[in-house]
Amino acid sequence: MRISKAIVTVFGALFAALGLSFAAHNPKVQDALLTKAARTQVARNNKALLGDDALRVAICGSSAPLPSPDRAKACVAVMAGGKVYIVDSGPESTKNLMRWSLPLDQVGGVLLTHFHSDHIGDLGELNLQSWVQGRAAPMPVYGGPGVEQVVAGFNTAYAQDEVYRTAHHTAQLLPSAAGTMIARPVIMPEGAGPRTAVVMDDGRMKITAIETNHAPVGPAYAYRFDYRGRSMVVTGDTTAWAPLVEASRGADVMVSEAMNREMVANLQKVTGESGRPRVSHIMHDIQSYHVSPTEAAAMANTAGVKLLVFYHLLPAPDNAVLRAVFTRGVDDVRKGRWDLSRDGSLYSLPVGSPDVLIGKVAD
Ligand SMILES: [Zn+2]
Ligand SMILES: [Zn+2]
Repeated sequence: MRISKAIVTVFGALFAALGLSFAAHNPKVQDALLTKAARTQVARNNKALLGDDALRVAICGSSAPLPSPDRAKACVAVMAGGKVYIVDSGPESTKNLMRWSLPLDQVGGVLLTHFHSDHIGDLGELNLQSWVQGRAAPMPVYGGPGVEQVVAGFNTAYAQDEVYRTAHHTAQLLPSAAGTMIARPVIMPEGAGPRTAVVMDDGRMKITAIETNHAPVGPAYAYRFDYRGRSMVVTGDTTAWAPLVEASRGADVMVSEAMNREMVANLQKVTGESGRPRVSHIMHDIQSYHVSPTEAAAMANTAGVKLLVFYHLLPAPDNAVLRAVFTRGVDDVRKGRWDLSRDGSLYSLPVGSPDVLIGKVAD
C-alpha cells in the first residue's frame, strides 16, 4: 500500500514537471510570462528613497580597482529632498542605479572625490541614462581643479551617441542642450587647518567638500552632507587624515574607503614570487595612500560618528574567511557600530530621530 502511494506521488510529480516543461515551451504561455515579468519590472520604483523624511545613503559601488564579481567600483548615492547625489561614478555603478529603478532624472549633481579611473569610469553612462530618463538640464559634476578636463573628455566621447539619440527619438524627447555635463570646479581656500569648501546649500541640504590626503594624487576630496539635522561623510580615497576627522565631527555616518594593508602586502609578495613584477610593484605602491579598516575605525571614534561603513574595499572580501581577515582588529579599535558594505547596502537617517538604520535597496 505504502509503495503504491509512493509510486503515485512520484508519477504525480513527474507529470507536473512535464506539464511545466510543456507550458514553458508553449508560445502563448511564454508571452503571458513575458508580459507579467515586464509589468513587474516597470512597476518597480524606488522613488520613496528620495523622500524628504530622511537622509539615505546607498552603496552603488563597494569595490576598488581589483575586480570582484558582484561589486561595482566606487559609488555612493546620497538621497534626500527629492534629489539623488552621486559621489563618484565607478565602473558598472550605473547598472546598479538602474537595476534599483532610482529616478536618475532627479540627479542633483555628481561629486567626484578625485579622478582615478575607479571613481570616474561610468560618468558617461550615468549622464546618458539620467538624460534618457528625462533630466531637463545639463548634469553638474563637482570636483577639484581638473574636473573640467574629465567632463570635457566624457562629453566629447559621448557626443556622437547623443546626436544619434536626438535624431532618432526627436529633440523634444531628448533635447541635446540637456544631454551634456557641466564641470563645477570646487576650489579650496588657502591656509592651514581643515580645508573645506561649501559646494551647495539650499537651506535644507548642505554639501561640503573636505580636502583629504591621497598623495601623490591630488586634489582629493571627501564630501559631507548635512540634511535637516542628519549628516554623513564619504571619505573618497585618503590616508588617515586629522583634518578629515575634524571636519567629520558629529556626523551620523562615515562611509570610509578601506584597504587591508596586510592583504595587499600579501598580494605584493605572492605576485612577486609568481613572476608578475609589474603587479607586485603596483601592490607595493598603493599601500601608502589608503586608510586601513582599523585606522578608519580610529578616525570614526575621534570624529564621534554613530556608524562607520567600509566601502572601496581593497581587496574586496568575497567570502566569509576573507571578510574575517579584512576586518581583523576592527572590533578591538572601534567604539561604536560598523558595517562592511556590499553593493545595495542602504543606510537611513530619519529626520527628527537619532536612529541609524541598516538595510538593503530593494531590487
Ligand atoms: Zn580608488
Ligand atoms: Zn584613488
